[in-house]
This record gives sequence, C-alpha cells and structure tokens, in this order.
Amino acid sequence: MQKTLILLKPDAVQKSLIGQILTRFEQKGYKVIGLKMMQMSEELVNEHYDFLMDKPFFPNIKSYMTSSPIVALALEGTEVIKGVRMLCGATNPAEAGPGTIRGDFAKNIDNNIIHSSDSEETAEKELARFFKSEELFDYSCLLYTS
Ligand code: ATP
Ligand code: MG
Repeated sequence: MQKTLILLKPDAVQKSLIGQILTRFEQKGYKVIGLKMMQMSEELVNEHYDFLMDKPFFPNIKSYMTSSPIVALALEGTEVIKGVRMLCGATNPAEAGPGTIRGDFAKNIDNNIIHSSDSEETAEKELARFFKSEELFDYSCLLYTS
C-alpha cells in the first residue's frame, strides 16, 4: 500500500488547524501510520528543501519552517500520494481550489500551511527523514469493518 509524508507547517500549528486538517485525511479514508510534533532545525530544512537552496525565497522558507513546531504525519492508502496532493491544492493558495486545504486555510505561497510528498521515490526518502522505522505503525483500521 502506498505511503506518504505530510508536514503541517508552522502556520497550521499556530492557527490551531491540526485537528481540522487531520479530519480531512481521516474522512477520505487514509490511515494514520505515524504522527509527531517536532521543531525543525535549520539543517533539517536544508535537507528537506535542498532543491530550492538557490532560490531567492529560500531564506524565507528557512525562517518560516523553523518559526514554530510542525506536525509530521505519515499516511497510508490507495494512491495516497496523489490523493493527498489533490486535497492540499495548488502550491500557491491563490490558485488552490475552494474546498482544498490550501484554498480554505492558507494565506500566500510563503505561508502555505502544508507539505506533502510528490512521488513514491520522494515519499520513501521523506518518511525516512522524519520517522524512525519504529515510529511507523502497522495496525488494522476498523473504519470500513462492521
Ligand atoms: P511542498 O513541497 O511544500 O508540499 P509543493 O510541492 O506544492 O510544496 P514545491 O515546488 O515543492 O511545491 O515548493 C516547496 C515549497 O517552497 C512550497 O510549498 C512553498 O512554501 C515554497 N515555494 C515554492 N515556490 C515558491 C515561490 N515561487 N515563492 C515562494 N515560495 C515558494
Ligand atoms: Mg514539493
């Protein structure tokens, strides 16, 4: 089954949106297999967004991502990587559709509430970056059983 890594960025935590965002994923039927609150270090931001290091907005990403704790979330489900990105909406909240997480809650591209992995290869790397193997759980989900 496909897995993905989600980060509820500092503004999601500071605006008390953790529960509402988690509910959207649970309602979609994705299984929570890992969950933790943590403070990102500058080193971890460098590693996570290394492909953006040369961009002029990289210093903003660094101060934003370290400005308060984040919540890291691992989800499992059929086609969960694409499904979560659809629920999140476009990178730029101005272009994110109504009803999407960014469309509903995010302010602008510098403060866009949420990260999610964009491919199976990325998801595998990102899950290992944020969770030790013993922090990811295998259990039976009762959602669809009577
Ligand atoms: P994320 O990786 O955070 O899920 P994404 O996959 O939608 O977002 P990426 O292209 O991977 O988009 O960009 C990573 C992050 O870098 C974005 O979420 C945003 O915070 C920031 N970013 C990307 N492009 C810009 C931009 N043009 N101006 C400012 N910030 C940007
Ligand atoms: Mg991305």
